[in-house]
Amino acid sequence: MASESFHGQQGVDLNEAAYTCDHCGEEIVIPVDPSAGVRQEYVEDCPVCCSPNLIQVEFTGGEVRAWAEAES
Ligand SMILES: [Zn+2]
Repeated sequence: MASESFHGQQGVDLNEAAYTCDHCGEEIVIPVDPSAGVRQEYVEDCPVCCSPNLIQVEFTGGEVRAWAEAES
């Protein structure tokens, strides 16, 4: 299966990603684990406003992308 390097292009750190909280609009930096899969989804409480966000993490093209959706 896919065995891509965990090291991104241009020294991008794939162990850290940022998302914008859907509730308070703060940018939250989170540690991420590339070895857990190229597509991840989990619920995490915002450290600023304590509202739950559905975090989506995607490792693609040597980059990590993260975003949040309000948990319903
Ligand atoms: Zn928040």
